[in-house]
Amino acid sequence: MKTMSHYIPENLPSKIQHFIDGQFVDSVGGETFDVLDPVSNESYVQAAAGQKADIDLAVAAAQRAFKSGPWPRMLPRQRSRVLHKIADLIEARDQRLAELETFDTGLPITQALGQAQRAAENFRFFADLIVAQRDDTYKVPGRQVNYVNRKPIGVAGLITPWNTPFMLESWKLAPALATGNTVVLKPAEFTPLSASLWAEIFREAGVPDGVFNLVNGLGEEAGDALVKHPDVPLISFTGESRTGQIIFGNAAPFLKGLSMELGGKSPAVVFADADIEAALDATVFGVFSLNGERCTAGSRVLVERPIYDDFVARYAERAKNIVVGDPHDPKTEVGALVHPEHYEKVMSYVEIGKTEARLVAGGGRPEGLETGNYVAPTVFADVAPDARIFQEEIFGPVVAITPFDTDEEALELANNTRYGLAAYIWTNNLKRAHNFSQSVEAGMVWLNSNNVRDLRTPFGGVKASGLGHEGGYRSIDFYTDQQAVHITLNEAHSPRFGTAK
Ligand code: NAD
Repeated sequence: MKTMSHYIPENLPSKIQHFIDGQFVDSVGGETFDVLDPVSNESYVQAAAGQKADIDLAVAAAQRAFKSGPWPRMLPRQRSRVLHKIADLIEARDQRLAELETFDTGLPITQALGQAQRAAENFRFFADLIVAQRDDTYKVPGRQVNYVNRKPIGVAGLITPWNTPFMLESWKLAPALATGNTVVLKPAEFTPLSASLWAEIFREAGVPDGVFNLVNGLGEEAGDALVKHPDVPLISFTGESRTGQIIFGNAAPFLKGLSMELGGKSPAVVFADADIEAALDATVFGVFSLNGERCTAGSRVLVERPIYDDFVARYAERAKNIVVGDPHDPKTEVGALVHPEHYEKVMSYVEIGKTEARLVAGGGRPEGLETGNYVAPTVFADVAPDARIFQEEIFGPVVAITPFDTDEEALELANNTRYGLAAYIWTNNLKRAHNFSQSVEAGMVWLNSNNVRDLRTPFGGVKASGLGHEGGYRSIDFYTDQQAVHITLNEAHSPRFGTAK
């Protein structure tokens, strides 16, 4: 069956199942789908394809665990201990996790290892936050004390994409569980391999049965059933803006709580007064790391005219030297794109780009890599703002570079897309740095910095890039209800209706 000549991890599972109420199970109706590895594009395993019946079972288990199980009623310190244990277990398995993730997604192994470690860090962060959590109390002197009774909401539906799957799942699982909810996770169908590890990790850490449930399957089947389940009051979704719109519509009749982390086409703006070497390092890394399959990729680089030609030449040179190859090789900087469908999409944008702009690096399949979803790091210069490669999210190793002359023009170009996830600004002028940052339409700005995450800060986008924020207390707020309890300290002064006669 396995005819692939490339690296295949030992002990791959013989099938991928759901995990419901503490048990690994197949789909009720036995449905499965093929999972491909992105280097051979051959199917290496079958995963259970969840349908409505499977979602119903998972939600019922999660609801039982929420209504009568210990998890929501545990002291924050007790839950925090379990979360720290989960972080320890992730760290102890980081090599295995990275190996599986690399095999399933095509991400370079060194970057997959970093993502595994970040997943552990997400659990540690929320383990700490939940014990430090305090809530507001309001005093009306002599009359009232009013306080916030924060409580978990119930069964949270978590729907995640295929880029850095395990890390992005941790981003939702950690706060949802820390706050005492129970969950049903529906991971992306392109990359279901690493998600099964959660079941083992949670079991070993002492998470009670039914608190964590996993249903694999297609978005239009398992994901859709989760969104439309009446007993799931919260949906936290990360994925494409188009899918987000569908989920919005489907959740509307139920008035569900929604957190939406969607697509991006983020600008990296380089002014002539910047530290050019640092800007070059960061803007190259910013679009080509994680194979360019990164929501916050700085995929539009805007460069001030006096340094433009030199910057483009140096950028193209760097892109040509990027090591593309076997994702398991520690020297690899760009691996294989996740799936042949996605490869076709990215390649079609490369072709579109050739008709719209000046190709200065890449532009197709790299030499010597005849099979697998490999795309040479591709750089287009002189890209006009109405070009499709300027406007649309490509989600691969493709970058558009555009010159500008003034601050006003740079801002107009930066804001000239439907997206508004991140922006990167490179300048040593303090006033310009802050004025530009505050005017740019982006949920997050990095100034003279690549994408470094501070887990306490809000993460999220504006415009078509999302609704709501994850990160720090914003995640705690999303996964909890803040009930206001009012206490009268004195006489209750009610107008005495019905006493006039
Ligand atoms: P996608 O929207 O195709 O799929 C995401 C998830 O939604 C998958 O699990 C999929 O099965 C599910 N899904 C699809 N249709 C559904 C439906 N009708 N109902 C319910 N669930 C459904 O996205 P993708 O291709 O997996 O991921 C790439 C996208 O994710 C890019 O646009 C990227 O920018 C975005 N992303 C955003 C962030 C962020 O934080 N803003 C982070 C990572 C990725």
